[in-house]
Amino acid sequence: MSRTKGLNPVNNYINGEWLSAEECQTIPLYNPSTGEIIGAVPMSTPDISNQAVKAAAEAYPAWSATPLPKRMDYIFKIVTAMQENLEQLAYSVALDQGKHISEARGEVSRVIEIVQMTCSVPTLLQGETIQGIANNINGRVIKAPLGVFCGVAPFNFPALVFGWFIPVAIATGNTFVYKPSSESPLFMQEMMKLLISMGLPSGVVNIVHGDRSVVEAWYDNEDVAGVCLVGSTPTAKAIAEGCGRTGKKTMLLGGAKNFLIAMEDAPMDLLIENILMSGYGAAGQRCLAVSNIAVVPEIYDEFVERLLEASQKITLGDAMDTDIFMGPVISSSAKERILNYIDIGQEEGATLALDGRNPRLPIDNQNGYFIGPTVFTDVTPGMRIAKEEIFGPVLSILKVGCINSALQMIRDHDMGNGACIFTQNSYYTEKFINDADVGMIGVNVGICAPHPYLPFGGIKGSLVGNNKVQGKDAVDFFTQNKTATVRVVNPKGSDSTITKPTDTSVRSCVAD
Ligand code: NAD
Repeated sequence: MSRTKGLNPVNNYINGEWLSAEECQTIPLYNPSTGEIIGAVPMSTPDISNQAVKAAAEAYPAWSATPLPKRMDYIFKIVTAMQENLEQLAYSVALDQGKHISEARGEVSRVIEIVQMTCSVPTLLQGETIQGIANNINGRVIKAPLGVFCGVAPFNFPALVFGWFIPVAIATGNTFVYKPSSESPLFMQEMMKLLISMGLPSGVVNIVHGDRSVVEAWYDNEDVAGVCLVGSTPTAKAIAEGCGRTGKKTMLLGGAKNFLIAMEDAPMDLLIENILMSGYGAAGQRCLAVSNIAVVPEIYDEFVERLLEASQKITLGDAMDTDIFMGPVISSSAKERILNYIDIGQEEGATLALDGRNPRLPIDNQNGYFIGPTVFTDVTPGMRIAKEEIFGPVLSILKVGCINSALQMIRDHDMGNGACIFTQNSYYTEKFINDADVGMIGVNVGICAPHPYLPFGGIKGSLVGNNKVQGKDAVDFFTQNKTATVRVVNPKGSDSTITKPTDTSVRSCVAD
């Protein structure tokens, strides 16, 4: 990838070959920090999407029959290749996604941990056996691959979502077709080069760029065993519907609206520091970004003053500039959407305590897609800014009387991705862990992303279906359990224990 100005290649990769982008229509790829065009993304036809599935289906028999230790060799190699190329991979994330370079390094480092966790797949694949369920009969459960899986990524975590889907899917013996977001395709372009350099067989991992029609082509394709997505809830529901028609397996992580509860004994310095990272990091475009902050009256005034003071110090600029805190949002249309929410908040009667609409920017970034830290106070739970996913650096502060009112707000919300509490009180802590109606909980932690050994995913509107990424849950999604009942017959025929039924015997519906 070029580190200078110019176009970066973005290509489909099917059956071991890079396809020329000219085979499809393309759309421009932008650098959100500057607004410059930095590439052209192919908008693949449904036919090209199905060619990728065909390549994956043809690669599947040999790949699934490849001995497990040999498949695992590739997973170990992915860890090493990512460690050795961390800077280049992080650069690709920061360039088209606009994530600050130090956060991009953090994202790639987290993916390395996820792939390291994937190195435990042989243990997680161990099935179960039960001896002697009847005379000479044993039972056995094996975890088998399913075939071709297809994955769809959102714009905001191009590396993380690769890490959630592809290593575990191929380690467990499946082959894969991946559609990156057309707003942030450069990470996968770089990552695919690394997979090729380690000799991964053709067809095991394929890339198809494009819009929803790439995904819709999979619904009626009999070679597709399952589809996984990280994206917004409407997209998750559309894929659930398409895959439901043909009975395909799905793992669909949707949108979010995350609460943070600040109790009267919240450690204030830690609280403010965590809100800055969680609310403004990645320009508020994280599925675990804090958005609604519910604060009890005892600390409300002090909290608002401290938050506004700290937020005003946040610096904005190019994602590659290590001296600034916050980069841009992904696109001009995302910026418009967020600005519209600021108007809505004002129309609804919330107080715009900090206005990020015209942030101070370096001269080279005047055409980038920037919004500064924005804080609303006097927000009530029924307002649209408290209910809908804004996905930008906009915080809503709500006053709550006690922990029960805060928990009720969380319960009443449609989404259930993450929620955090800041307190030193073990009663509040335990109550929050038990009663917060979300999939991921943080205690004195602003971004409650579970470690790769543990499942990651929300509940309610944030998850369509039940399957979550990471850990044992991911292995379960990419495998199917098969149960075998095995009678061991002595080839010499001497030890049969089956007796002839008599009129009064009871015949079993299972082997006996
Ligand atoms: P999006 O839903 O617009 O797009 C996600 C992907 O789906 C893209 O590759 C897009 O091309 C494709 N797509 C869009 N519409 C589709 C359709 N109708 N059918 C099939 N495919 C379709 O999401 P986005 O704007 O790229 O990403 C932001 C969203 O992702 C936010 O809602 C955020 O909360 C969510 N997200 C969730 C998690 C999580 O862990 N739950 C993590 C990251 C992002």
